[in-house]
Amino acid sequence: MTALSREIHRSGKHLGFVPTMGALHQGHLSLARTARSQSDVVVVSIFVNPRQFGPKEDFSKYPRSFEQDSALLQAEKVDYIFAPSVEEMYPQGATSWVKVEEISDRLDGRSRPGHFHGVTTVVSKLFNIIQPDLAFFGQKDAAQVAIVRKMVRDLNFDVRIVVCPIVREQDGLAMSSRNVYLSPEQRKQAVILYRALMRVQTLADQGESDAAKLMAAGKQVIAEEPAARLDYFEIVNSDTLEPVRNISHGALVAVAAHVGATRLIDNIMLMGPGQAKVGG
Ligand code: AMP
Repeated sequence: MTALSREIHRSGKHLGFVPTMGALHQGHLSLARTARSQSDVVVVSIFVNPRQFGPKEDFSKYPRSFEQDSALLQAEKVDYIFAPSVEEMYPQGATSWVKVEEISDRLDGRSRPGHFHGVTTVVSKLFNIIQPDLAFFGQKDAAQVAIVRKMVRDLNFDVRIVVCPIVREQDGLAMSSRNVYLSPEQRKQAVILYRALMRVQTLADQGESDAAKLMAAGKQVIAEEPAARLDYFEIVNSDTLEPVRNISHGALVAVAAHVGATRLIDNIMLMGPGQAKVGG
């Protein structure tokens, strides 16, 4: 992969990279499509990264569908799939980690200790191996975006991060590889995360700017669905992930909840008055 990347750069082409864990859906494919439109050569990685799963999490049962994934990526005219084995990525004795301190302990980092250290370690390794000019990430994982951006700044990675909007099912549920875990009944209940976010959006559109009140309203919606167990509902600065008191300068509204045994996340960006709407 590194030799190939060198050759691509030697020929003056721009390389776009989309990191994924496979089990691809339209969310991933939208990233591949955006990469296709902005780069000469597109590389998509498929790697279920053990280091970002906690000991009691779903690493072993995480959905894997390489054949189907490669057919979908071929249809999107992706040039290369990089799908290393766990042993290749973490040979015995590999003990180095990339940790972005403080911010990695917020939002999902608080509920999933060490998760983002696994993410920043694997993303660093992938950046070093693939040497992309552009790397495409989904707004779906808003905390991941903030942390990867900070890592790129802190460690001078020579790559531009492009963030793509959240792709949703018709009823609003954010697409996720983990949605396959949901029973038909849970699948219907799972839309509560989006409903809670939309409630906050509506109140903000009506002029409410107090983050505490908006959060309380969002949590109230989640509480109305007994099948959902709230992990967090927070309104934060989208760069630092620190709580904000007021949304008048824009804010990230992020939610995580369990429906049955499945942990789901979703978010929206609130724009302060007079700010242009961007992203998803
Ligand atoms: P994953 O395979 O879950 O690690 O996701 C790989 C990339 O796809 C990440 O940058 C995710 O944020 C992005 N992604 C996942 N789901 C969606 C979605 N519904 N809409 C947009 N991007 C997504």
